[in-house]
Amino acid sequence: MIKIKKSEFNKFIENLQKNYSVFAPVTDGKATAFKKIKSSDDINNKVLNTKRSPKEIFFPQSEVLFQYTEKGMEVPKREEKPFAIWGMRNCDTKSLLLLDKVFGEAHQMPKKDMYKDPYWKEKYDNCLVFNLACNEPLSTCFCNWFDGGPFDKTGSDIFVVETDDSFIFEAVSDKGKKFLTDCKTTENESDKEIKKIEKLKETAESFLAEKEDISSLFSKTKEIWDEPIWDEIAAKCVNCGACTFVCPTCHCFDVSDEGKGNKGKRIRLWDSCMFAIFTKEASGHNPRSQSTQRVRQRVMHKYNYFMDNYDEHLCTGCGRCVVVCPTNLDIREVIKKILNYKNEE
Ligand code: SF4
Ligand code: SF4
Repeated sequence: MIKIKKSEFNKFIENLQKNYSVFAPVTDGKATAFKKIKSSDDINNKVLNTKRSPKEIFFPQSEVLFQYTEKGMEVPKREEKPFAIWGMRNCDTKSLLLLDKVFGEAHQMPKKDMYKDPYWKEKYDNCLVFNLACNEPLSTCFCNWFDGGPFDKTGSDIFVVETDDSFIFEAVSDKGKKFLTDCKTTENESDKEIKKIEKLKETAESFLAEKEDISSLFSKTKEIWDEPIWDEIAAKCVNCGACTFVCPTCHCFDVSDEGKGNKGKRIRLWDSCMFAIFTKEASGHNPRSQSTQRVRQRVMHKYNYFMDNYDEHLCTGCGRCVVVCPTNLDIREVIKKILNYKNEE
């Protein structure tokens, strides 16, 4: 482990920017999101969960895949430097691993290489992820339900703990080890600081609500697929789609061509399973025309279908959907309701 004093933070970020395009939490008005920074002054290290998740760095809300004219096709130029993401929290670093299973590894597909997404891979494969420990988790955080935690390091290259006067760095991946070895502006960590980290971890974990045992969630969701519980759960939902847009793991998209005359572009845009026309077919038939069916799809995808395909829940307990839902449909309550459904019989 090594540390940099807070007074050296600006210099650290400046050095990082020499070799990387640096993204970090930036507050604009009331909302905080991950944006490419100009200098360390842009960074907000105080905010815990950004309103929008960092998935948009790798999988933007709208992305031009290529442009075309009568002369041919051209893929837009990308950033020349690799990405470094400063200030990601554990729920978000874990979400990148989940999305990489879909876009980067194409696990499900028979000829995987054909289906690996080059737009995702060129950004994600070379990026350096700094995971900043959460010293004071929010009341909406429930990462512990999914075996995450405020000081969990999964999915990061470098794990960082903020103390009163310093940032303490620990290499997690080989990429992280190489970065820290090459880092010149650092000093070694002392036993005293290690004790300080242990204390911070203990305090952070005490902020989280009790861990729910979700080991039966996969089987339970399968059992109740056709039960009336979904009407009860969906009653509050107005299908606005906000939960899916802020979620770090939701990844539905649509592809659209925008052209005029001899030129145009093909764009990939986020979509949401909560929208009524998401599954509307050209014939007019819609297999998920009712809100209940769409709410069930969202929950089943997170806690059953993704498990079936990848052996992981498609949720990291970040709590963003809890915060943003205009009707207070709390996914934690949904999970509890499902786990307890018909248990008394
Ligand atoms: S479903 Fe909600 S709590 Fe889970 S990862 Fe998505 S936004 Fe976070
Ligand atoms: S944010 Fe709430 S109301 Fe909107 S689609 Fe999600 S669950 Fe439904």
